[in-house]
Amino acid sequence: MSSVPFLDLRRHHTAIRAELVAAFEAVLEASAFAGGPFVQQFEKDFAAYCGTRYCVAVGSGTDALWLALLALGVGPGDEVITVPMTFMATAEAITYTGARPVFVDIERDTYTLDPRLLKAAITPRTRAIIPVHLYGQTADLEPILAIAREHGIPVVEDACQAHGATYQDRRAGAWGDLGCFSFYPGKNLGALGEGGAVVTNDEALASKVAMLRDHGQARKYHHDLVGWNARMDGIQGAVLQIKLKRLDAGNEARRRLAEKYRTLLAEVASVVLPVERPGSRHAYHLFVVRVPDRDAILRELAERGVHCGIHYPVPVHLQKAYRDRGWRQGLFPVSEQCAAEVLSLPMYPELAETQVAHVAQALKDCLSRRSIPQTASAVGETAPWVTCN
Ligand SMILES: *Cc1c(COP(=O)(O)O)cnc(C)c1O
Repeated sequence: MSSVPFLDLRRHHTAIRAELVAAFEAVLEASAFAGGPFVQQFEKDFAAYCGTRYCVAVGSGTDALWLALLALGVGPGDEVITVPMTFMATAEAITYTGARPVFVDIERDTYTLDPRLLKAAITPRTRAIIPVHLYGQTADLEPILAIAREHGIPVVEDACQAHGATYQDRRAGAWGDLGCFSFYPGKNLGALGEGGAVVTNDEALASKVAMLRDHGQARKYHHDLVGWNARMDGIQGAVLQIKLKRLDAGNEARRRLAEKYRTLLAEVASVVLPVERPGSRHAYHLFVVRVPDRDAILRELAERGVHCGIHYPVPVHLQKAYRDRGWRQGLFPVSEQCAAEVLSLPMYPELAETQVAHVAQALKDCLSRRSIPQTASAVGETAPWVTCN
């Protein structure tokens, strides 16, 4: 078999090429390039899809998180709780409001915010909580929301990897006070460039985000707030309308492929498979396993033409950008161990079952060639760096 790419957007777009070209032409014809009717229609469609009253389209997922926090009034001196095992943007958005990120470690099986650790992280300065729906599965929202409500703290969902995922039959993004999405090209719902959205049921928050993304104006050249330029391109609004219609089918295909991976890798002792929480539907933005000797396995797979990814090799609290914050190795052992062991296998709707079988076999071969049979260690129990409690 020829090589298996980590992602194949070309194949994804070939199937809808004619529709995309017609959308470009419609936007050209209307000259509606920055915001405008194509974006407004997408906002209606996406709010309906998520089951929220409002959707405000913005320039990226990072913008969505940042403006959601600003709309809640988060600023200097405040603290915002999130997880260290996420993409850097979650923490950047907090930092850019002037607030301080406060980290809570993740659950060892689902890789999302551990509700049991949440209460201890809350202080009088806590102004928001951002659970991250990592890899496409929502965080355990019910206990998180219960604790947040008890303390009167708003919840902002980072749903940038979880378009269409559900938790107890309600979609990701519709649980918190605000839900943030990214339409970066590789996401389950991806634009042909950058894009993002904030969804909410709160009219005041929706209109504040809408003003903030457009220089703080509700009426042209009348600026009630100091905002920013975070508008969505018209072309992305048109493209996303087309791609939204295929999101559910794409997620179904991902779930079928995930089942195939599970079956093929079930009895491989050294592979830790993703766990789907009862009552939630994983959207499998990524299919992430944990393996011993991860970096070498990644290289060996690439040599065999199987291209994998790592999401993420360095947890946010250990990033160089935050080196002067006093965070150190050992503070968040589950995140740190996951960062050392996670391996993202190819996962996209266009992936063929034969390719999944090829990937699984290649992974088995790489693992079985190792002289000492190794098992991915139980997270948190054997980490050599757990020095504090
Ligand atoms: C992609 C992503 C973001 C940022 O989205 P952009 O559109 O790239 O700005 C934020 N959080 C998570 C978890 C993401 O995966």
